[in-house]
Amino acid sequence: IRFNLVELMNNICGGQIIKAQEKGLKFYLDIDSRLKNKMIFGDPTRITQIIFNLVSNAIKFTPEGTVWVRATSLGDRHNTLTINFTVKDTGIGIEDTNLEAIFEPFTQESITTTRQYGGTGLGLAIVKRLLELQNIQMNVNSKLGEGSEFSFNMEFPVSTEKPVCANEAAPEHPVDPMG
Ligand code: ADP
Repeated sequence: IRFNLVELMNNICGGQIIKAQEKGLKFYLDIDSRLKNKMIFGDPTRITQIIFNLVSNAIKFTPEGTVWVRATSLGDRHNTLTINFTVKDTGIGIEDTNLEAIFEPFTQESITTTRQYGGTGLGLAIVKRLLELQNIQMNVNSKLGEGSEFSFNMEFPVSTEKPVCANEAAPEHPVDPMG
């Protein structure tokens, strides 16, 4: 369906910002200004599930510091917009050897994770599956004790339909009465 990504990202992150602040974390939501007036086609419910899971994890696994959520336009070609989504934190990080396992269903980094943070180990498995259905790969960068960064690119057809308002209804090049 047709939607605006700025509005969607604000809706997804609204409650999360409060959660982060309650934990004493800084939270930055940075959405490319070029996306402000754009209407795109996609599945906002699935995007919400993906971003919500990533942001929840970032907050959950960050005892102090910062969480960044970014949506950046990588370009608009033939009315297809490529967006990079990145969720980054200064949290506990993930051991190199576990970077693949965390995407398996019911898998958490260690038994300590379960004890300390709870959870089911399903979130990332769902995220990975939802992205795979669109042939999208998730990229992870993480350093134990320093933080993690999850990112992926998604393409969206851009709606060329413009909302009609009084000003726009006027002709673009008015006829010059003198010429
Ligand atoms: P859950 O959040 O229920 O534990 P997930 O599937 O979302 O399950 O994540 C799986 C595991 O990956 C987590 O238990 C945790 O060990 C690790 N993980 C996910 N996101 C992060 C993160 N931002 N920082 C550190 N570890 C993470």
